[in-house]
Amino acid sequence: MTIFHKIIRREIPADIVFEDDHVIAFRDIAPQAPVHVLFVPKQDFATLNDVPAESPEIVGRLAVAAARYAREQGFAEDGYRIVMNCNSDGGQTVFQIHLHLLAGAPLGRFGTP
Ligand code: AMP
Repeated sequence: MTIFHKIIRREIPADIVFEDDHVIAFRDIAPQAPVHVLFVPKQDFATLNDVPAESPEIVGRLAVAAARYAREQGFAEDGYRIVMNCNSDGGQTVFQIHLHLLAGAPLGRFGTP
């Protein structure tokens, strides 16, 4: 079980900003931008590699929930970045898939320090 499963089960606290039957979203504990929210499925998938080709809809649910949050919070037009890290070269540290939503300031070119 990962720390994100414990957040889903309310075993540890988090600043939850959205939840439905499939997805939970909460603020990242170490934000990399003025807005940094993680969108996490309630179904278990350790990495993006573990999402079956025949059921890709969870990835869409994460992205659509992030876009809706951006609209509701009023920064959709200014823009934002979504990122999903996979395994060691991708920098994944928590092995329950999650989509990072980063916003609130110009983020610079992707991949630059
Ligand atoms: P990744 O490196 O893509 O696996 O992202 C994991 C993210 O989870 C990092 O940005 C961490 O700052 C964040 N994180 C770790 N523990 C917590 C927590 N308890 N609450 C909120 N965010 C967390």
